[in-house]
Amino acid sequence: MQLKTVSAYNSESEAISLYIHIPFCHKKCPYCDFNTYAGMFGWRKRYIAALIREITLLGQALQSANGAPKRVCTIFWGGGTPSLLPATDICDVLHAVRAVFAVDDSAEITLEANPGALEYNRLDAAQKCGVNRLSMGAQSFDADLLHWLGRIHSPDDILTAAAKGNAAGFRSLNFDFMYALPEQTMAQWQDTLEKALALQAQHLSLYSLIVEPNTPLFDWVQRGDVVTASEDIAADMYEYACDRLAAAGYHHYEISNWALPGYECEHNITYWKLRPFIGVGAGAHSFWNNTHYSNQTEIAAYIAATHSEWNPAALGIGSIGGPVVERRELMAEELISETVIMRLRLREGIPLGWFQNRFQRALADVFPELRFLQDNGLLEEDNNDGESIIRLTQRGMLLGNEVFERFLSLQKN
Ligand code: SF4
Repeated sequence: MQLKTVSAYNSESEAISLYIHIPFCHKKCPYCDFNTYAGMFGWRKRYIAALIREITLLGQALQSANGAPKRVCTIFWGGGTPSLLPATDICDVLHAVRAVFAVDDSAEITLEANPGALEYNRLDAAQKCGVNRLSMGAQSFDADLLHWLGRIHSPDDILTAAAKGNAAGFRSLNFDFMYALPEQTMAQWQDTLEKALALQAQHLSLYSLIVEPNTPLFDWVQRGDVVTASEDIAADMYEYACDRLAAAGYHHYEISNWALPGYECEHNITYWKLRPFIGVGAGAHSFWNNTHYSNQTEIAAYIAATHSEWNPAALGIGSIGGPVVERRELMAEELISETVIMRLRLREGIPLGWFQNRFQRALADVFPELRFLQDNGLLEEDNNDGESIIRLTQRGMLLGNEVFERFLSLQKN
């Protein structure tokens, strides 16, 4: 099916999000396929200088014709382990951001942190530089499972990290936890969830273990040394978590994310709504003018490329050159599929009127399978503030990938 071109979804006045990638970790966890490296911290100073140069050039390139800086509404420090950085680095980079972008006073600024390496003084200084949200990879309250995951922290470290985060005065704390781990019992998962709730964090993210290619875990599973949890166990753990967190007052606003009302992660909502964002750092991804693009992944190569004769203002944002090594412009069909798949992750679903305005087509006309998915209890039509929406049912959230596969078919036709 061929559809007409769809206009880019970023206007001059629209605020954007900024992602800052820190590719350093104490050690590499065996399940992790993120672009992060252990034993490379000696590159830190050169890396921070490269980040500042990339931010400065991009900020200048994004200024309007009359020199007004681009508005930024969220900033997310991800990795890797950004909390490894001294607070001076965090403050220097944020200062560079503010020199070329107009950061909203209310901007959500998140720092990812490892509970096993969290110094109060650093957190306090980062908070004073504007970081207002701390996101920690807690993963489990079971010491044996943490050890199996290759994590450097203990269950007690999670409690200490929460106390430090609260004492430093962050507006919001998030903890990530993992379920469907090999040999993890329902009782262990229930115990972890109870302790997670006792943290009284504003936000919780729960992820099932995914076996990613090119990881030690992948090899272990291939060799038969590790047996992954069954889909039934994963489903039972997910459904238990949905019920328990709802009873505790958390709003299940995205497939893997729960928040107390008003504490949803604004930065990640940018991704799910396919809004424009700029990623800086080694391997960082961006989305701009209906185009995905990504940076050089290796630290030394990224630093060298950033210091080359690179001028994004002349090339255009998202063009190959400097640190940018890959770009993929979405065709109209791909843009519609991605929009639907990403927005369906959100509990608020897809407002049918919004879709019609955005793409000049009715959702049911573009995806005739909508009715089939509704009849099978995976999607439901509902009303949100007087607006008709389509969203995943709880069963649909559990089987999200099967639903998304059907929406991908538009790209293949
Ligand atoms: S700490 Fe996080 S980013 Fe670093 S290796 Fe482990 S899972 Fe990956």
